[in-house]
Amino acid sequence: MIDKMTERAFIPLASPDIRETDIEEMVRVVRTGMLVQGKEVAAFEDAIQQFLGVGHAICVTNGTATLHLSLLALGIGPGDEVIVPAFSYMATANVVELVGAQPVFADIQARTFNIDPGQIEDLITTATRAIIPVHEFGLACDIGEIIAIADKYGLAVIEDAACALGARENGRAVGTFGKFGSFSLHPRKAITSGEGGIVTTDNPVMAERIRILRNHGIHPGRPGMDFVAAGFNCRMTDYQAALVHSQFRRLPEIIARRQVLAQVYLEEIRNPAFVLPIHDESKLHTWQTFHCLLEDRLDRARVMDFLKQNGVGTNYGAQCMPAQTWYRDKYGHDSQTEFPNAWRAWTRGLALPVYEKLSVDDIKYISSVINRITE
Ligand SMILES: *Cc1c(COP(=O)(O)O)cnc(C)c1O
Repeated sequence: MIDKMTERAFIPLASPDIRETDIEEMVRVVRTGMLVQGKEVAAFEDAIQQFLGVGHAICVTNGTATLHLSLLALGIGPGDEVIVPAFSYMATANVVELVGAQPVFADIQARTFNIDPGQIEDLITTATRAIIPVHEFGLACDIGEIIAIADKYGLAVIEDAACALGARENGRAVGTFGKFGSFSLHPRKAITSGEGGIVTTDNPVMAERIRILRNHGIHPGRPGMDFVAAGFNCRMTDYQAALVHSQFRRLPEIIARRQVLAQVYLEEIRNPAFVLPIHDESKLHTWQTFHCLLEDRLDRARVMDFLKQNGVGTNYGAQCMPAQTWYRDKYGHDSQTEFPNAWRAWTRGLALPVYEKLSVDDIKYISSVINRITE
């Protein structure tokens, strides 16, 4: 697998598309001297509420905080169990640990990388309080089925839609099905405020709890400063809101563009050692990541190196969470046996570049490099 570096500019795995107009919006707000949470955050929250069709959208400091505050608002803590997929970014399980509860892992579907609803019921005990399904890589999980299971057992659902803003199932936006929805605005996601996150809910009591926890425990509806809880400071700044709001206006185009590019991969990659992702037509995929699986005969490190030599940046997609040191030491899972699909996605997965700044020609080029890999 030796090839010479091409004349093309290096294509990194990810690269946020921040435009001059976005920067001007941010600078306009910085110039006002209003540097904390204020009317720009409120305006962005209104825009997100309308776009998703949800009662409340609440901006916070990052995607991890959205999940953490949602668990606290539900009163989940020591003695409680929360079902999470075995494959996700680590934050999904970490927040359960952080409130003192126990994450219980369910395996994923092999080629959508989303939690397998068929695994969930067997994991439910008298201690189970909630499910945190993840809409991994921008694809809605089988959220309708998961809500039905949760309703049957009286469990809360917190949708981890960190990388799936705008993804839909049967026309309905993810983040509006569960008691809470959770979005991240990290630079690896479709639109970004640097660090940032959005909690969504239709429940006014839950919304109020999130607003209290976000702002030092101050009740948002009472005059003066009534400290009704020991809260956090999880506020987003107004200039961050202006930066991401400006990009948000392009979100439909960003998603449409990623769909075009992903389709090129699906048509052009013909290497039989690359197993391509699948999804069903009831779902609108936003392609935060184009994630494939390598057959065992390929050495992933060598494949990544070959792509790098040919000017293409790649990386692993997400983690098999129960296999990471903290969880393995604490719960003693044999992940390879217990969560075979999550294990495979973690050890054999490969994320390829897919974002607005790339051209169809770039994707064809990357595919042609992939098609030359034989060992
Ligand atoms: C990015 C991500 C998070 C964490 O979001 P941050 O904004 O980085 O805290 C959580 N869950 C999933 C599935 C993610 O992709």
